[in-house]
Amino acid sequence: MNVLQTIEDIRGVVKQLQIENKKVAFVPTMGALHDGHLSLIRIARRSADHVIVSIYVNPEQFGPNEDYSNYPRTLTRDLEFCKNEGVGTVFTPNDQIMYGSGEKFFSIQIETLNTYLDGGSRPGYFQGIALVVNKLFNIVQPNIAVFGQKDYQQFQIIQQMVNEFNHDLELLMAPIERADDGLALSSRNAYLSSNERELAPLLIKKMRESVTQIEAGVLEPASLFEQKQKELEAKGFKNDYFNTYSLDRMEPVTNLTKGEAYVLAAAAYLGKTRLIDNIIFDC
Ligand code: AMP
Repeated sequence: MNVLQTIEDIRGVVKQLQIENKKVAFVPTMGALHDGHLSLIRIARRSADHVIVSIYVNPEQFGPNEDYSNYPRTLTRDLEFCKNEGVGTVFTPNDQIMYGSGEKFFSIQIETLNTYLDGGSRPGYFQGIALVVNKLFNIVQPNIAVFGQKDYQQFQIIQQMVNEFNHDLELLMAPIERADDGLALSSRNAYLSSNERELAPLLIKKMRESVTQIEAGVLEPASLFEQKQKELEAKGFKNDYFNTYSLDRMEPVTNLTKGEAYVLAAAAYLGKTRLIDNIIFDC
């Protein structure tokens, strides 16, 4: 397995793969790898000849009061993990390599798709992601890139960016990997105390209950969601959002239409840990 830090080295590997007509699948990550990342890597392996994983905690997507400096960094373990999964190349750039130290003349503005959900709660978050993913796509030039449904809004924004910026690649979305009790796997779960970890699956439980009630005919779910958020709050969650959104435009939908598909998405804090989750369902 190649472990490469510079853009020149990655370009060298990619050029050689292109000469050999090898298909490249790319999995961008921030490291602290878990079984969610593993499922992305497995999809990438099934879809291409060579898998490139990037491990980079991107400072541009963290707000000033967010957890950039505390974000878990477990590179040695991550590399072992990648090696065991048959990854061909790991790209581990640093900030200097990704952003240099000079003056910046460009940023990526997202016109829509980031008004609600995490885009609404975390100003600058998706601009930072769009910027780094755009750069990574230009560096790695993959045929395929794999992202998780866990970050559904991110997937939609990147898909739209690929379309509008004419990146020549196909995006694949991997399903959400969960612990046995339902909690969506996340690098940030490492922040949870043992009490919080026990409580955390209540979020997906309340979301699943909501979908069951919607499927049973609750087509105006606002008061249902209010009730679910109250139940979460009573157990110590601090709710951010809990709502149904259109699958493509990422806008809240208050009157659901039978036969249409939506995403129920929620974010809540448990202590200092921000949990997010979503369910795509047919109404
Ligand atoms: P991150 O390292 O958190 O930036 O995540 C890297 C990629 O892994 C993103 O495409 C995420 O959506 C995906 N991912 C994170 N957690 C999960 C999970 N539990 N199941 C599936 N994909 C995930």
